[in-house]
Amino acid sequence: MKECIFCKIANGEIPSATLYEDEKFRVILDLGPATKGHALILPKSHYENLYELPEGLAGDAMVLAKKVITEMKEVLKCDGYNVVQNNGEAAGQTVFHFHMHLIPRRDGDNAGISWNPGTLTPEDKEEILSKFSLK
Ligand code: 5GP
Ligand code: ZN
Repeated sequence: MKECIFCKIANGEIPSATLYEDEKFRVILDLGPATKGHALILPKSHYENLYELPEGLAGDAMVLAKKVITEMKEVLKCDGYNVVQNNGEAAGQTVFHFHMHLIPRRDGDNAGISWNPGTLTPEDKEEILSKFSLK
């Protein structure tokens, strides 16, 4: 993808604060961090979102997320981590090249990565369970 900023960053055409790189991925610091140390896992190949990402790479990305946050939790002395991944504009995706957010959390940081819990109604539960069948 010629005009994709994350393709350019992932492949080193645009410099970035790189924490890790291998043949499939680059892990960089986010330019607009939710908290100190917020990082992004970028595949070097272009896939718009998780629907498009091949299964193997999806698995590799999660294994890499585990490695990075395990190490960074020690380095940054944080108390927890959010692993966030947005798909589609409605879900808050702004860069349409698959990426995973790794967001260090510290007690009381008020980073605001949350939602307002609703209620699982009997109607919603019945509707969803009756329609969904994963093969
Ligand atoms: P999204 O909203 O698509 O899930 O996340 C996009 C993320 O990419 C945002 O957190 C934003 O700060 C980050 N971002 C956007 N452009 C750049 C850039 O050029 N370099 C870096 N390092 N991060 C970027
Ligand atoms: Zn791309």
